Amino acid sequence: MRTLLTESQLHDGVQRLAVEIDEHYGNNRPITLIAVMTGSLVLFADLIRRLSMPQRIGVIQASSYRGGTTSGELSVDSKMMIDVKGRDVLLVDDIFDTGKTLDRLTGMLTDFGAQSVKTGVLLHKQREHSTTLRPDFVAFKIPDEFVVGYGLDYLDMYRNLPYLAVLEPSEIEATAA
Ligand code: 5GP
Repeated sequence: MRTLLTESQLHDGVQRLAVEIDEHYGNNRPITLIAVMTGSLVLFADLIRRLSMPQRIGVIQASSYRGGTTSGELSVDSKMMIDVKGRDVLLVDDIFDTGKTLDRLTGMLTDFGAQSVKTGVLLHKQREHSTTLRPDFVAFKIPDEFVVGYGLDYLDMYRNLPYLAVLEPSEIEATAA
């Protein structure tokens, strides 16, 4: 496993993200923050405590990596989602890869009546994306490699790592065995 971003780099990146979001929305207007579960769990907890505006908090479950490292069919479970009608919504996800997840969720929230929908991510993978949507707020651009830690998993493991690491192909095979 090779460290890509240290704990302190992540800390600084989340702080920058929070400042950017604060500057965009200002600190009086309430916003509805929705965490895309499960990958954004750690980022979300750190981010919301650094934002200064009044916040409503919700979660939505979306999975596209079905236990492996390749993208699968996207499934969305919005059962636990809070009401977004007429609200300014910020969707928070761990990583922007193909873009399918945030593209689909943005469309869903708009259909549910959100007044505005923006997206914020910790990581933006430098690769070709399959959508025209791009995240509004990004903490880090990273190379096209499979990463784990700080909420991101491989087979539901490694989410607890305080740093972000690249999982080498040999480790991927060993964990899967
Ligand atoms: P997208 O829909 O943009 O292709 O993928 C977004 C989701 O795929 C992320 O929320 C994340 O769960 C998963 N994903 C994409 N790239 C990686 C990666 O490098 N590592 C991990 N652990 N998950 C990833």
